Amino acid sequence: MGLVCVFSGKICREIYARYFFQTHQDIRKFSMSSLQSPADSTAPVSNFIRSIIDADLASGRHDSIVTRFPPEPNGYLHVGHAKSICLNFGLAQDYHGKCNLRFDDTNPEKESEEYAQSIQDDVRWLGFQWEGQIHWASDYFDALYAFAEELIGKGLAYVDDLTPEQMREYRGTLTQPGRNSPNRERSVVENLDLFRRMKAGEFADGARVLRAKIDMASPNINLRDPAIYRIRRAHHIRTGDKWCIYPMYDYTHCISDALEGITHSICTLEFEDHRPLYDWVLDNLNVPCHPRQYEFSRLELQYTLTSKRKLLQLVNEKKVTGWDDPRMPTIQGMRRRGYTPEGIREFARRIGVSKGENNVDMVVMEGAIREHLEAIAPRVAAVINPLKVTLTNFDGAGAREADFHPQHPEFGKRIVPISRELYIEADDFAEVPPAGWRRLTLGGEIRLRHSYVMRCDEAVKDAAGNVIELKCSLDHATLGKNPEGRKVRGVIHFLAAEFALPAEIRLYDRLFTVASPDADKEVDFCTYLNPESLQVVQGWVEAAVKDAPPETHYQFERLGYFVTDRRDHQLGDRLVFNRTVTLKDSWTKEQA
Ligand code: ATP
Ligand code: MG
Repeated sequence: MGLVCVFSGKICREIYARYFFQTHQDIRKFSMSSLQSPADSTAPVSNFIRSIIDADLASGRHDSIVTRFPPEPNGYLHVGHAKSICLNFGLAQDYHGKCNLRFDDTNPEKESEEYAQSIQDDVRWLGFQWEGQIHWASDYFDALYAFAEELIGKGLAYVDDLTPEQMREYRGTLTQPGRNSPNRERSVVENLDLFRRMKAGEFADGARVLRAKIDMASPNINLRDPAIYRIRRAHHIRTGDKWCIYPMYDYTHCISDALEGITHSICTLEFEDHRPLYDWVLDNLNVPCHPRQYEFSRLELQYTLTSKRKLLQLVNEKKVTGWDDPRMPTIQGMRRRGYTPEGIREFARRIGVSKGENNVDMVVMEGAIREHLEAIAPRVAAVINPLKVTLTNFDGAGAREADFHPQHPEFGKRIVPISRELYIEADDFAEVPPAGWRRLTLGGEIRLRHSYVMRCDEAVKDAAGNVIELKCSLDHATLGKNPEGRKVRGVIHFLAAEFALPAEIRLYDRLFTVASPDADKEVDFCTYLNPESLQVVQGWVEAAVKDAPPETHYQFERLGYFVTDRRDHQLGDRLVFNRTVTLKDSWTKEQA
């Protein structure tokens, strides 16, 4: 912090530009390398799934583990999927096993290549890599069809012609058993013939289904002869128009797991009741192995949604600017907001894996993100609500060197210039200060961060009485030194107007005004959208950020963590910053 330079404005600007260029390169190198580091400092937290794996390895049931992450490419991944990714890929990493990425592409109408691509990008961005090739449920369409014929041959599946309404009526309810369909006793020959004709396209969409023949009186509705194939003339992203029948999820999923040699098939709790069906299918087919399914509770994050369908609605109805809107809980949205993979992985570690409710306060996410940004983000000054200050006893320009981070000298230094006109935050000045005020007031002194002590001599007002400018004076003997004979305790940040760069700064708040916007099924969750979730301000930033590429993280001192926007920053010569998170938790306080 020793270097002091006071030059004429022109020389200072030249030195400044050259100097900055060097330090900025250093910072970029540093932040890139720290972002690429895969290892989190914190150890895995034990959970019931890890205990099961430990026991399976100890007993010799398995020599190594194979997990899978099985998204349907029907939307962008959200924070709940991030939890599942960290769990499945994390287990494979910790136990030196494998984790497959498998697209569950059995619903052709809703799926797209764009979604499949974004999912791959998200998994990699989170810091994980799947084993070998990507798998697709559609890779197994031929095998799944052959297994269906095997079930028919064993008298364990039949073609049914009931209409969907009849089907519902025959199924019974939670309290009443179902009834057998009149078609349930068709012969194997007739079933095979009908199923082949379904495949050949002889029947209309929805006219017939293939059902597993299990038990219409089972207390578990999933076992009341579930449909396993349906007729649907839809173009598929991978198989095109080859098929007009598609296998159902429950039937497809367990067979795909078995064909891939998955050892632990981990899914969310709503599939607990489907596990008997998972096991029934595998028990009745000649498959290479019988994976075990284990369920954990879904993550619900407060003040947002974790349902692709509902997030799609927000996108379609233009309530947000897209899947990657920084207010969205999608991985793309969180990334654009400035959340880091390390922060999200740490969040997943902290929330844990269990069967208990996993309704998590946003404070937990923001805490994990903030901690990581604290360690990697250089600190610079920005002013988001500027008040002009004119220094009445300072001409020309001066500058002082300052570290980008007080605890990280390796981040380098930059020059903090001062000039006759400054910007400070409007709320760092109060004409009538409250008790304990440590910032600027009329006749009071503060230290300008990394610079001189300054006194406010006059507040200039407009006709309406608003303060529009301050006239202040510096104590020239206070650069890098305490003033003599008095203590100045307050420190505020500032920008030299001559060198500051204009920037668009986007301030985000929670997307919804209530913690669980979709809790009440009778009320459209859009009713609870927070009209103030985005505020765009024109502010100023210090010139040290000038060439920062998109996705560069900074702490704006005293204001929060910000990131250069992934899409709009450096388009033309615009500087666009997103507020990732404030410096302190503002949630708990507001809710209290
Ligand atoms: P959504 O209801 O948002 O569409 P989904 O479960 O239908 O989610 P999939 O693409 O099938 O979405 O999910 C892939 C994997 O991610 C599944 O194993 C699923 O259990 C898991 N997953 C989805 N949502 C969550 C969540 N909120 N918490 C934890 N895991 C989740
Ligand atoms: Mg699903």
